[in-house]
Amino acid sequence: MRILVTGGAGYIGSHTVVELLVAGHNVVVLDNYCNSAPVALQRVSDIVEQATGAQASLTTIEGDIRDRALLDQLFEEHAIDAVIHFAGLKAVGESVDKPLEYYENNVGGTVTLCQAMDAAGVTRLVFSSSATVYGEDAPVPYVETLPRGRTSNPYGTSKAMVEQVLTDLCRANSRWSVALLRYFNPIGAHPSGLIGEDPQGIPNNLMPYIAQVAIGRRSELSIFGDDYDTPDGTCQRDYLHVVDLAIGHLKALRALNEPSVKAYNLGTGRACSVMEMVQAFEKASGRKIAYRIAPRRAGDLPAFWANPSKAAQELNWQAKRSLEEMMADTWRWQSTNPNGYHG
Ligand code: NAD
Ligand code: UDP
Repeated sequence: MRILVTGGAGYIGSHTVVELLVAGHNVVVLDNYCNSAPVALQRVSDIVEQATGAQASLTTIEGDIRDRALLDQLFEEHAIDAVIHFAGLKAVGESVDKPLEYYENNVGGTVTLCQAMDAAGVTRLVFSSSATVYGEDAPVPYVETLPRGRTSNPYGTSKAMVEQVLTDLCRANSRWSVALLRYFNPIGAHPSGLIGEDPQGIPNNLMPYIAQVAIGRRSELSIFGDDYDTPDGTCQRDYLHVVDLAIGHLKALRALNEPSVKAYNLGTGRACSVMEMVQAFEKASGRKIAYRIAPRRAGDLPAFWANPSKAAQELNWQAKRSLEEMMADTWRWQSTNPNGYHG
């Protein structure tokens, strides 16, 4: 198939593009590089060429999902069969300060993309949603039969809004087939060490923060609260390997063969605490992680993890890679690319 991947130069997108190309698909990436760099896609090609011995069938287009004229031209020039849509803004804190940018990019951008797809007769879509759509009051583990809940920031609300837009679209138009993939906490990097997560500025997320402490870019980790009602007092999340997550997109794509909108949790089904993450990283890297206990971070939930049964049953997908592999691959990426893609 020929797949359009929006945001394909980013963290999850680049890992997914590798899996798509290795599986023999043709890929067109559309990215405006607002949170990534073209070098990531050069490395994707290198990985694929090493793995397959053939040149990767990858076309890259620099541009924005909000640019309707560009999208129309793209669909005219490339016979796209389906779209995997990663492009969007993802920093929770920033979304509180810049709600209009988040709604414009994440909601407006998706609407424009869908309008262009519909006009071109492309009606198969895999969308990057998030466990955050379950909201603040959902019981754990999260299961897809729960309704979407009350989100606490514009980023989370933008994901819930797009889920609703796509649900309404599928209801109105029986040609559409959409998978809403609700990611839990993706971490890790490609085992080659060539691609990984490269946050700009101070990392918001736990894993890149720990990795930057290990390499000496940050002096210590702040653990946001150790007085939660969890076994060791620190928050628990469901961390999954980004390569497992990438493979989930291929499986979801394969399942887009009937008109429908379906949501799937992509997680391991296991919860791991911040303290356990620090210890596991120390073991994998052989480095001590300096940390201090800091106040709770506003909006953090004590613990959530996935019930991943639906993806296992309907997509034949399960997260396979262990916490040790997630840590070892993170460390390989960070230690061989201390400054990410920038030097
Ligand atoms: P990322 O920032 O690394 O990748 C997003 C990519 O989209 C970047 O390459 C960026 O340059 C591009 N982009 C952003 N706005 C664009 C626009 N208007 N037009 C074209 N390109 C644009 O993020 P990621 O971690 O790879 O996340 C991918 C998707 O998954 C996002 O939609 C994110 O909200 C969602 N998600 C991520 C996580 C996570 O923990 N990383 C969890 C749940 C959901
Ligand atoms: N966390 C932390 N210090 C950091 C970053 C994150 O203690 O510098 C904690 C955070 O409070 C949460 C967990 O690590 O309990 C995962 O946070 P992240 O931002 O990576 O994911 P999310 O909160 O979106 O699940």
